[in-house]
Amino acid sequence: MKDFRIGQGFDVHKLVQERKLILCGVEIPSEYGLLGHSDADVAIHALMDALLGALALGDIGMIFPDNDPAYAGADSMELLKKVLAMPEFSSYKLLNCDLTIIAQKPKLSPWREAMRQRIAAVTGWEMDRISVKFTTTEKLGFTGRGEGIAATAVAALGKE
Ligand code: MG
Repeated sequence: MKDFRIGQGFDVHKLVQERKLILCGVEIPSEYGLLGHSDADVAIHALMDALLGALALGDIGMIFPDNDPAYAGADSMELLKKVLAMPEFSSYKLLNCDLTIIAQKPKLSPWREAMRQRIAAVTGWEMDRISVKFTTTEKLGFTGRGEGIAATAVAALGKE
């Protein structure tokens, strides 16, 4: 392989009432949802930052400013498509990505396959290169108190 790249991303959004909870493009039934300028899909935001980081292209705040009305209520899966459509990505293949969603509640593991499938459908990546994991923080900190959800992502890209 001529070039191997790795990037990491991290994001946090606040949980509030009367918002949808959308994670990896999947709407999860929940009393609380994530607050944000876009649909606040914290996992996909972390993934986009990992991808941008791998190619040293900055971060999503630079590319999709949160004061730009064009991105109000934006579907983060559409933003992910836009990131991957950047010309810099055209010569790279995704080797794998690994996401961790840090949430005390709701229980997310029943949605794992739906999330992986949604990422695969939007990106064209193979399912066995897409990992989605969940953890709690044992009721500690803002995630543990249910005040927000955090996500981390790592993505590896390669060029032949
Ligand atoms: Mg975000």
